[in-house]
Amino acid sequence: MPPKDSVNSTSAVARLSGEAGTIVEHMLNGMAYCKMLFEDGQPCDFICLYTNPAFESLTGLSGVVGRRITDVIPGVRESDPLLFDIFGRVAQGGKAEKFETWVGALGMWFSITVYRPKPEHFVAMFDVITERKQAEQDLLRANERLSLAQRTAGAGVWDWDVPSGTLVWSDELFQLFGLDPAATAATFDTWRSVVHPDDLQRAEEAIYTTLRDHVPLFNEYRIVLPTGAVRWIDAFGDTTYDADGNAQRMTGICIDTTARKLAEAQIEFLAHHDHLTRLPNRFVATERLKMAMAYADRANENVALLFLDLDKFKAINDSLGHNMGDLLLVEVARRLQACLRETDTVSRQGGDEFLIILTHIQDLDAVTGSAAKIVAALAAPCEIEGHSLLVTTSVGIAIYPNDAKDTDTLMQRADTAMYHAKGTGGNDFTFFSEQMNAAVALSHAIRIELRQALAGGEFVLHYQPQIDLASGRVTGVEALLRWNSPKRGLVLPEAFVSVAEDCGLIVPIGEWVLQEACRQAVRWQQAGLPELTVAVNLSAMQFRRGNLQQSVVQALSDSGLAPARLELELTESLLIVEAEYALETVLNLRSLGIRFAIDDFGTGYSSLAYLKRFPIDKLKIAQTFVQDMNTNPEDAAIVHAIIQMARALNLRTIAEGIETQDTVEHLRLHHCDEVQGNYFSRPLLAEEFQQYMLAATRASP
Ligand code: C2E
Ligand code: MG
Ligand code: MG
Repeated sequence: MPPKDSVNSTSAVARLSGEAGTIVEHMLNGMAYCKMLFEDGQPCDFICLYTNPAFESLTGLSGVVGRRITDVIPGVRESDPLLFDIFGRVAQGGKAEKFETWVGALGMWFSITVYRPKPEHFVAMFDVITERKQAEQDLLRANERLSLAQRTAGAGVWDWDVPSGTLVWSDELFQLFGLDPAATAATFDTWRSVVHPDDLQRAEEAIYTTLRDHVPLFNEYRIVLPTGAVRWIDAFGDTTYDADGNAQRMTGICIDTTARKLAEAQIEFLAHHDHLTRLPNRFVATERLKMAMAYADRANENVALLFLDLDKFKAINDSLGHNMGDLLLVEVARRLQACLRETDTVSRQGGDEFLIILTHIQDLDAVTGSAAKIVAALAAPCEIEGHSLLVTTSVGIAIYPNDAKDTDTLMQRADTAMYHAKGTGGNDFTFFSEQMNAAVALSHAIRIELRQALAGGEFVLHYQPQIDLASGRVTGVEALLRWNSPKRGLVLPEAFVSVAEDCGLIVPIGEWVLQEACRQAVRWQQAGLPELTVAVNLSAMQFRRGNLQQSVVQALSDSGLAPARLELELTESLLIVEAEYALETVLNLRSLGIRFAIDDFGTGYSSLAYLKRFPIDKLKIAQTFVQDMNTNPEDAAIVHAIIQMARALNLRTIAEGIETQDTVEHLRLHHCDEVQGNYFSRPLLAEEFQQYMLAATRASP
């Protein structure tokens, strides 16, 4: 039902006054004259008394006049309560208002001005601004996106109007420079004040070059933040020029590249340093060595190259774990650096190997001094996580240009010298000498020939009799390996066993020795010789690398020798250093009835604890003590002590390397059980031994 004061549009215009009416009719803006309706004092609806033609064309609503708006647009009160609020307020209060709003019911943006011509009435003049609003919002969103992109990229943008010199910076650029956009002006002076003084000139030149040469701007410089922190910036810019080639406008972006720079520096560092000790790596060391050599040539000086290898590092690593090993290496690196001058280089080659380059050497005594200092510094105990670790080092020294003229050879020679230092017990340094080189060449040649020797059947065993002092009878033999080299003649173990150990060939060679010794013992039995024990020497490598237990069992079963007739000779160092590998094997073999002797007893470790852990039958007193016991009372005392201790532990003793009757008598007096040496017989071929035995049996019926 239409309200009572509903009027037709023409009369309403008439009431607006004639001239105004025409204006309103032709206006591009929409206009509506309405009466506000209230319910309990709250605006609840309005009736349109007049609308101009633009109203209809802008809103798309027709036939509105005389109707309640809630009838014209159902649900408008719920969707657009703001309209009712404002229209109601104006119609009641009389104060005109201007506002922009989204009218959800129409899906449009409006810019509306409302005023009150008389109480409870209002006139709304409006324009549809949907397009502008959308553009604004798009721009806003684009700005937000740009701003977000700038922030995430650590970037800021700038715009420079070149003729006027006006600079505009984005907020992000201010932030990048550590500046407050509200408190700082974007000017070149501001920019200059943040650029690192060392980079300023270059950064400015890049801008001038861009303007002069019409090239895109690329600038890289550091800035200093108010906190003092330094940031790396990459700046890129693009310039527009007028027809005369004058720069008009340069727009660009600044990017924070600090993180990338740090990562690059880190990569660079890692490429040239050892990650654990942070010492220069092998690559850097080689470069520095080359430089040092070139410098030494000009200055007529020497360079000393020291090759270091820690002694027994592997044992620490294996027993205490890699973590301790790592900490130890770090400590070693620290000590080495402390020993050296600024101009010297210490680098880690990998593992427990270090290389030291001593430059400006005029006098080799200085090298001796440095090397001695290094060896001593490393020999002091390292306290690491509650452990007191003793690690010594072996140092090999090669001198440029005396020992070699190029880096590779110099390194090789230092390495060779290091092996010599190690070979003589470690904890020392050794200068390279030509003889060492000859030794290295020899062992290299031997290594190659040894491979052939096994296949070619070039090995032979010699047997040295072992005599029971009490009965005077031969009770056993020691099998001693010889190499019948077609090129070198009969080679003694000293010349090739360590080479065979180094290259692992000792494992198959040792298996052959076991096989051959067992077979020979059985042959003698079959030839009617009295019962004999055959003693075979074992190398530590056979425990570590080979399957010793299997090889021994195989040799016994292949030959048919009784296990009790086989004696295995171990060294003291094997029992201590290789205790973990060795103990189980020794126990297993012992349970089969095989006997064990400790070779060269007294020359190795003074720790005797292993005598309790390992089921040993016999001690072989080292020849060094035996041979001098008649002339050297100390050696005699050692021999006596060994015999006494062995008796107390219920072990048999055998003295090796006996060359004189006097020694035999001396040993007999001190109750040594057995003897072996050239005095009785040199090591013999199998047939020779058989003859020897026949003669011996004839001699003592
Ligand atoms: P070793 O086990 O202590 O052997 C005793 C060495 O003393 C032998 O040297 C022997 O010829 C020598 N000898 C014996 N009587 C006398 C003497 O009256 N005076 C002197 N000056 N020397 C005497 P060889 O045969 O040269 O063996 C040297 C070392 O090589 C052996 O010491 C042993 O450790 C090792 N070896 C020998 N055969 C083998 C083997 O089959 N396997 C392994 N792994 N090592 C072996
Ligand atoms: Mg031996
Ligand atoms: Mg020996």
